[in-house]
Amino acid sequence: MNENQPIIIAGGGIGGLAAARMLAIKGRQSIVLEQAPEFGEIGAGIQLGPNTHRMFDRLQVTKDMHEIGYFPEHIIMMDSLTGEEVLRMPLGRQLESHFGKPYAVIHRADLHSVLLNACMEMDEIDLRTGANVTSYSSRPQSIIVETADGKTFEGSGLVGADGLWSKIRAKIIGDGDPVVSGHIAYRAVLPVNEVPQSLSKWMEDVVLWAGPRNHLVHYKLRRGELFNIVAVFHSKKYVEGWDEFGDPDELYSHFKEARPEVRALLKKIDVWKMWVLCDRIPKKEWTKGRVTLLGDAAHPMLQYLAAGAGMAMEDAVCLADLIDQYKGDIERAFSDYPKKRYIRAGRVQLTARYYGEIYHAEGVTRELRNLMLGGEKKGNPYASVEWLYGKNTGLPGGG
Ligand SMILES: Cc1cc2nc3c(=O)[nH]c(=O)nc-3n(C[C@H](O)[C@H](O)[C@H](O)COP(=O)(O)OP(=O)(O)OC[C@H]3O[C@@H](n4cnc5c(N)ncnc54)[C@H](O)[C@@H]3O)c2cc1C
Repeated sequence: MNENQPIIIAGGGIGGLAAARMLAIKGRQSIVLEQAPEFGEIGAGIQLGPNTHRMFDRLQVTKDMHEIGYFPEHIIMMDSLTGEEVLRMPLGRQLESHFGKPYAVIHRADLHSVLLNACMEMDEIDLRTGANVTSYSSRPQSIIVETADGKTFEGSGLVGADGLWSKIRAKIIGDGDPVVSGHIAYRAVLPVNEVPQSLSKWMEDVVLWAGPRNHLVHYKLRRGELFNIVAVFHSKKYVEGWDEFGDPDELYSHFKEARPEVRALLKKIDVWKMWVLCDRIPKKEWTKGRVTLLGDAAHPMLQYLAAGAGMAMEDAVCLADLIDQYKGDIERAFSDYPKKRYIRAGRVQLTARYYGEIYHAEGVTRELRNLMLGGEKKGNPYASVEWLYGKNTGLPGGG
């Protein structure tokens, strides 16, 4: 058996670094192969539900995350045509006492750098950049991983944490390109003192302005110093694109019917970064022998539940726990791991699509949405997210 060899992780994003960190906490060696010339993250804010905070505890990074994150007071859904408040979910203390963990928002780069620093302090982790994994081959007791510069790495297993366009997934599942949703996200960050006065009453909240075939989300980031803006609309114009510059005129044309508060915010930004949003239909065949998938490589999802990074970290913790439990028996751990995760990840993938429909509803569907979600709510304000944020979700891999 070659179980003492390092585990090779393709991809040093949020999922890959979380996996390396958790394996190291368990005393296991890994080599992280990241294609980019430097470790880093693009993009702007992401939201972190209570389930993600449980993973921070396991990864032993809670203190650093709390220092750099921001803790909003509510999630509010507004109708972007009329300005009526459709839904309000309390965050803050009420949510924390319900779930035992808080709700935070963080800059992606901050989350990534906390994980990177946590990995750099562990001798068990060998971090490599400029290492573009192109292929792998299986031996009876090990895996040989090849990178574009002709180097090879031998390990006891390979974890494909190489994101939406995973090359490892192409070899394991081979289900072609991701599904292009036709939804485009424009993202930008503004210094908090440049936010228009008309938004002042929502500064402590995560606000989602839902419009016909579009929505806009805003919230404070980085200890409250920055203001994160994400505008999403439907377009058939783009097939793919990641971190490209967006066209502000196209964006304004999609939001021309939106409330003045929304349009005033859009006008504040000159440079937008654009993402074409993709996902996949859930699959469970993440593992083949000594190779498995994690994070977006395994279960890419639309961002409407704000849960992809959390799912990647849950995968990482689950996988490391199994490797430890099976005393380094990689094939057994890799075989059991998807069984513990695919139902929960699949539920997020499918529910995220449904949330997209609700956010972007138009005509009678929009009015019905406002009626059904609106009004004074009695009972548990977290009933719809209990399965995602709660500890005992009753689903494999939950909590
Ligand atoms: C617009 C938008 C908003 C989002 N908002 C949220 C949110 O609010 N909350 C949340 O939890 N999630 C959110 N997400 C989802 C979240 O960002 C992802 O689910 C998460 O980043 C997945 O992490 P990952 O490590 O699996 O993949 P990635 O972050 O994509 O990392 C993959 C890494 O692999 C590297 N790589 C790729 N190919 C190779 C190769 N061949 N060899 C070596 N390295 C390779 C890449 O360079 C990258 O570093 C959002 C996503 C989008 C698009």
